[in-house]
Amino acid sequence: MIIELFQPILDENKHQVIHFLNGLETSLKFEYKVVYNKPLIIIYSKDIGLEVVNLLKDRFPEIKKITVFPKDYKLVSNTWKQEKTSFLVDDIEIGGDLITTIAGPCSIESEEQIFSTAKFLASIGVKFIRGGAYKPRTSPYSFQGLKEEGLKLIRQAADQYHLKVVTEVMDTTLIDEVSKYADILQVGSRNMQNFFFLSELGKTRKPIMLKRGMYSKIEEWLLAAEYLLSGGNEKIILCERGIRTFDDIVRNTMDITAIPLIKSISHLPIFSDPSHGTGNRDLVAPVYLASIAAGADGLLVEVHPNPIEALSDGKQSLNLEQFENLTLKANQIAKVMDRQMDTEKYLSIIHS
Ligand code: PEP
Ligand code: MN
Repeated sequence: MIIELFQPILDENKHQVIHFLNGLETSLKFEYKVVYNKPLIIIYSKDIGLEVVNLLKDRFPEIKKITVFPKDYKLVSNTWKQEKTSFLVDDIEIGGDLITTIAGPCSIESEEQIFSTAKFLASIGVKFIRGGAYKPRTSPYSFQGLKEEGLKLIRQAADQYHLKVVTEVMDTTLIDEVSKYADILQVGSRNMQNFFFLSELGKTRKPIMLKRGMYSKIEEWLLAAEYLLSGGNEKIILCERGIRTFDDIVRNTMDITAIPLIKSISHLPIFSDPSHGTGNRDLVAPVYLASIAAGADGLLVEVHPNPIEALSDGKQSLNLEQFENLTLKANQIAKVMDRQMDTEKYLSIIHS
């Protein structure tokens, strides 16, 4: 339950409401928080039934609104906020009319690699480049990323070609450093339930793309996003990236259903990552297109000038030409769905 009080909120009123709630049943634990910069919203940890809601409303004229939630997640739900969340990254809108494309290599490997990718992406109208500088690798012997040197390179390449940077932040100690170079912070699948980390990220005001944990249920994912929103960060993107199932013929099982499902219960933009979702270059294009048909607000895809030589995730990376061809098809699928890709305008000019 969320209780919203009229502003300006007097401490006295706040305490009266809390006192009243405390008196109801001592075993109920509650907390109050400031979210969305609306002073005092009480997030009561348990819903307390309609009679009490009515009692509260009658007794406290300073209560503006009480929202009762059927599930644990609250601020991410469309019970709380009906209008879709959209926000600007500089001048580029996420979650708006256009479907966002984020593309680039799994890892930033060299100046030559990231600059040639950036140049190509800009040439087909993509606005966001991705690339990891701090890489979460299963083996400590695998390439771990170029770290701050990589962040500098992707920032320089992005600035030269007027792109925005999406890159992963792996740990609380790196939030400040990565935030200096990134426009959107990616939280990786392996960190989705790192709750202390999420709380720290909730305090920042950088846009965050929260990937689904590879073992996580949708509700757990939404609750992870709830950590970010309850910290006051409203610029959140959810990104489906496939989950582990019994079937190991593919790296992950892409949960396309999550896309329309999230749209039916949450106001947050939902992106799709068919690269990690499939782990196989040949499967990326069909799942990319299916994601658009399923209603994705954006796509994240691994693209490399020479995938065979990639230092990570080469098997699931498209080369530049494959990506351009896919983008052309994506524009058509988006049209059928009454939407438009961010690259559409640009590509229709260069291909006319
Ligand atoms: C990535 O985007 O390169 C990545 C490591 O993603 P995930 O956290 O989904 O595995
Ligand atoms: Mn990767």
